[in-house]
Amino acid sequence: MKPTNSELKKRADKVFIGNYLRYPSAMISGQGCTLTDADGKTYIDFLSGIAVCSLGHCHPAVTRAVSEQAASLVHVSNFYYTEPQTELAELLVANSFADKVFFSNSGAEANEAAIKLARICSPAGKYEIITLKGSFHGRTLATVTATAQPKFHAGFEPMPEGFVYADFGSLEAIESLISDNTCAIMCEPLQGEAGVRPLEQEYLEGIRALCDRHDLLLILDEVQTGMGRTGKLFGYQHTVIEPDIMTLAKALGNGMPIGAMLTNETLAAKLVPGTHASTFGGNPVAAAAGVATMKVMLANGFLAGVNEQGDYLASQLEKLAMQFPTLASGVRGLGLIRGLVLTDKGVAVGAEIVSKMLEKGFLINFAGNSVLRFVPPFLITRDEIDQMVYALSEVLSDYHR
Ligand SMILES: *Cc1c(COP(=O)(O)O)cnc(C)c1O
Repeated sequence: MKPTNSELKKRADKVFIGNYLRYPSAMISGQGCTLTDADGKTYIDFLSGIAVCSLGHCHPAVTRAVSEQAASLVHVSNFYYTEPQTELAELLVANSFADKVFFSNSGAEANEAAIKLARICSPAGKYEIITLKGSFHGRTLATVTATAQPKFHAGFEPMPEGFVYADFGSLEAIESLISDNTCAIMCEPLQGEAGVRPLEQEYLEGIRALCDRHDLLLILDEVQTGMGRTGKLFGYQHTVIEPDIMTLAKALGNGMPIGAMLTNETLAAKLVPGTHASTFGGNPVAAAAGVATMKVMLANGFLAGVNEQGDYLASQLEKLAMQFPTLASGVRGLGLIRGLVLTDKGVAVGAEIVSKMLEKGFLINFAGNSVLRFVPPFLITRDEIDQMVYALSEVLSDYHR
């Protein structure tokens, strides 16, 4: 007999540190936009492992690339060259502002590399990085300090020095924090964890202008917005600006753990042997997954589909917001990262709504204690969107009184 959800939950709860709040479902397989749990129940996935499996679960091209690479070479360390790693870096360079790439295993590690690069490239004494309130940059000590949300710092003090926080949305707030110590401004083009909050185009362009005026580096954390999620390959491509440093992770390997820090030739030259490294970074299996993922995403017309489905999802969510004004006030986002903004009354039941959606067979998430976040695989169909929106309307009508 295969173990059930409740048996797997019981075993796990005995042996795991309780740092995750988990739903009582043990997922055993995935195909496209559908997941199956240990009790045989199926779910339509509007979370994609938090914007990771953007090509859906077990995409055949990625599965093939991973299987073939795992059968020929799994790991050799960065003492040696491997082709998958080089090919992925070539694809990233050919399709972005960047000239050079460093591979990590996660978003936090990519951001650590970005922070180290910004510091090593700056004149002596300049080390401070300005980040935006509500941001999320990771959970390592430096990246959680870059994360301008006090609730993530509580209990872990003292936090590393060198990060200051600007109010979201105000260029004056950033400018007032620039000092002789400042070396960089770091932000996401759209804050995912804060509740799908896009930066206005003029705001992001204004941040670039501030960097230029004060000789600061612009670090864009595209860990969540990168790899097509917003309808362009990278979020900054919605604007006329380019960053000096960009980080990627989540969808880069469609589920295989890999992150990247990208920059230009001049800055890259400062990270000489001995300054930075990662044992697993750019592991051939993860890199092969990245190559397969990018090739699918770069195919003609692929990202147009992200915009089309994203616009449809947004239009259907807008209808829900109009239908249930006591619970939802509007829709935010770009491409296939969308948030249904909840009112105070909606926020109070946000977590319950997510649980009820799970019971109905739909995975969504409550982000930033403010919005219901939808980040489905790019293959999501109109029919699946309609099913999810219908289920959500049933759940919302229970609370809308
Ligand atoms: C998820 C996320 C991170 C952290 O990535 P990990 O792989 O969990 O370390 C950093 N920045 C942003 C914008 C993210 O969404």
